[in-house]
Amino acid sequence: MQMQDQSQTSEPTKECYRCGRQLPADAKTCPVCGRRQYRICYCGNRIPVNTAECPHCGADWSDSTRVKRKKSRSSRLNSAALLRSAGIGAVIALVIAGLFNIFITYFATIGVQGEALPDDFFGLLDMASVGLRRVAAAWWQAALTRRGSILAFAICLAVGAGIGAVASLAKVATRKLGRRSKRGSSRRRSSRSK
Ligand SMILES: [Zn+2]
Ligand SMILES: [Zn+2]
Repeated sequence: MQMQDQSQTSEPTKECYRCGRQLPADAKTCPVCGRRQYRICYCGNRIPVNTAECPHCGADWSDSTRVKRKKSRSSRLNSAALLRSAGIGAVIALVIAGLFNIFITYFATIGVQGEALPDDFFGLLDMASVGLRRVAAAWWQAALTRRGSILAFAICLAVGAGIGAVASLAKVATRKLGRRSKRGSSRRRSSRSK
């Protein structure tokens, strides 16, 4: 074992976890930044400082700040996450744009009243606002012409709600009165018997 280690010392086989300098595989400290490259695991073995799991006993070192620093420095993971969120954002933007386009086209179709839709977006937007106003006006007109029936409907609702409220109040009141009248009658009886 020791013979093999000595034959490999001249080869730079790993990077310093802190400064990235190439070091011999068995280097204990980095000559540039002076950081220790090994730690002593719970099992007594020397393991590289940036190893998340001890190869000898399986101890979990992933919470170690040195291991975490090494992980956070990997830019490949960050760029992948960035790419994914950018993709999701693009899809959401496309969906919103599609829905917006459907609404605009719908109201613009009402706005032009059977004529051809304008080609440019702002013309379409203009027509959409015209259509929207037309729809709102139509609703308002419908409300005005059915004022009587809407009023009747509102009165019906109010009367119904009033009756319901009165009925439930009456129920509570009769229950309370019933209890009181029982007590009252017993008192009356006792007073009569005097
Ligand atoms: Zn170093
Ligand atoms: Zn170990």
